[in-house]
Order: sequence, then C-alpha cells, then structure tokens
Amino acid sequence: MLKNSMLRMGLLAALMAALISPVQAVSKADADKALKAAHDTYKGLKEGKNADYIPALAKVNSNFFGIGLVTVDGQVSTVGDVDQLFSIQSISKVFTMAQVMQESGVDVVLNGVGVDATGQVFNSIVAVEQFRGKEMNALVNPGAIATTSLVKGKTADEVWAKILGMHSDCAGRPLEVNAEVYKSESDTNQRNQAIGMLMYAYGLIKDNPAQATDLYTRQCSINVNAKDLAMMAATLANGGKNPVTKKQVIDQKHVAKILAVMATAGLYDDSGKWLFLTGLPAKSGVGGGIIAVSPGKFGIAAFSPPLDAAGNSVRAQKAITMISEKLDGNPLNPKAK
Ligand code: GLN
Repeated sequence: MLKNSMLRMGLLAALMAALISPVQAVSKADADKALKAAHDTYKGLKEGKNADYIPALAKVNSNFFGIGLVTVDGQVSTVGDVDQLFSIQSISKVFTMAQVMQESGVDVVLNGVGVDATGQVFNSIVAVEQFRGKEMNALVNPGAIATTSLVKGKTADEVWAKILGMHSDCAGRPLEVNAEVYKSESDTNQRNQAIGMLMYAYGLIKDNPAQATDLYTRQCSINVNAKDLAMMAATLANGGKNPVTKKQVIDQKHVAKILAVMATAGLYDDSGKWLFLTGLPAKSGVGGGIIAVSPGKFGIAAFSPPLDAAGNSVRAQKAITMISEKLDGNPLNPKAK
C-alpha cells in the first residue's frame, strides 16, 4: 500500500514536471559537446577581417575564438578564449533599448524610434534620409543613438549609470569600459556624430545630440567576455531574469518585444538570412561578438573578431548556427504531435 502510493506520487511528480517545463531542457553534457564540436570545426576558419574603421579593433588578435552558453536554469558551458575581454559594440544596443522600455514603456521605442528593418548597413545615412529619421530601429546606429538619448537622467553621469547598470545586471557582474576602444572610437566617430545631429534635425533626438552620441560610443566600449554575453543572452532567454543571480532585470512583458526587434534587425542587412538559417533572435557587434537567444532554453554567445561584409563575425555565426541545431534551439521549428 505504502509502496503503491509512493509510486503514484512519483508518477504525479514526473507528470507535473513535464507539464511545467514544456520546453525540453538542455543537458550540460549535450551543451559541452556541442560547444566543443563547433569550436573544433571552425577554429581553423580564416574568412573575414577585423573591423578597422575603429583603429583599436583592427589591433585585436584575429585568432581569438570563445563560445559560451547558459541555460535558463543557470548551467554554464564554455570553450576557447572565454576570459578574453573585448568591446561589446552594437550588442549594447539591445540592452539600452531594454533600459528605455523599462523606464518609459515599449511605445516610446515603437513610436519614437521604430521597429522596422532598414535593409541598409548599420551606419547608413541614406536610411535616415529615406523617412526623415523615422521607420528606424534601435539596433542600427541612428535608432540606437536616438534610443540612448531617451534614457532619462539630469546629467550624463546619471544616464550612464543606468546604462552600465542594465548591462552589468544582465551579465551578473559589474562591467567596465575599455578605455582604449572608447578613446579610439571617440577620435574617429565623426560619422556617428553626423548621424546624431541628423536625428536631432529631424526631431528624433530632442536634446543634446552630442551627449547622446558620446554615451552611445561609451556603451559600445563596454568590455565583456563570451561568458558575460552568454549570460546576458540567457537573461533574455529566461524572461528577463538573470538565471544565476536570479535578479529580474527586465520585466518579462518587454522581452518578447526586445526579441522581435533582434529577429528583425539584429544582424543588420543580413538579418533575414540569419533568421532563415537559425530562427534565433540575435545581435552582432563589430568587436566580433554575437549573442543569440533560444527563448525558454538558452542564451549563447560567440566571439571571433573577423567579420563578413555585413559586419557580422564569420566564426561566431557559424558556431552558433551549428550549436543551436545540435541543441534544437530554433524557436520557429514546430514539432508534429
Ligand atoms: N560602435 C560601433 C559604431 O557605431 C558599433 C557598430 C557595430 O557594432 N555594428 O560604428
């Protein structure tokens, strides 16, 4: 009798576990194996070239290759150069957009910046001209500089503390700026200054475009490693809650909107191709990092400086594609019953 009821309780517990976790969990062994296989497969690949329009990025060792994956239950897998710090670059655009949504709601992003793909390169001025600064998105430079200008604060320091705080909370540790990259980009970012000024001329930046461009440049210079980025991606995969620190950094209701913009425009003018191949909302940076999110399953990041013509890391794209395929990460892949 006792044995019988224990058996029934066991069955009930198993049934409940199956009901509350409809998404198949990723085991540590499978994740480790997939990361290692991707690293082995692509470490010798020599395609692409470091970004050189920011002089400090051209100097980074092109051989660096690190991959991190964090599951929604906080399991961490890494391979390769995972402690190597590099500048986050455009991946920061996701987290500053998240900060604005937290503070001011999603409509400010929808109406004040836009959520449509431009189909143009990330620093296109033609894209701004086409709709007089409208119909942008927060993941290309004009929309991103406008988004940074929307973070509230009386002083630049106050705004900066919020931006850095959001990034750090998602990474689960205090992040810092790479001073060399910040200086290098500040010395050479005349094009972004012009974009900021143009967005101001069209009224999409209300005030102080120079400050917005400077803070944007600073956010792009935040130093991260592949594990930090994987944790940031996993925070999104886990509905805005950091899976290790357990802090609810971003309200869950905003996360689907963030992922939608990433799916639309995360890899610039190659976003459609990327979504076709992987189904994953993702974001790249010219420092060589890419994050991708398998909602409810895992966040993944890879770092390798050489980029393709669209400005996306060649090895990072290939590695994430292979790993996600192995771990069944594509959220657009329905299963027949
Ligand atoms: N800081 C870089 C720029 O504004 C970011 C671009 C990127 O990563 N695509 O040019």
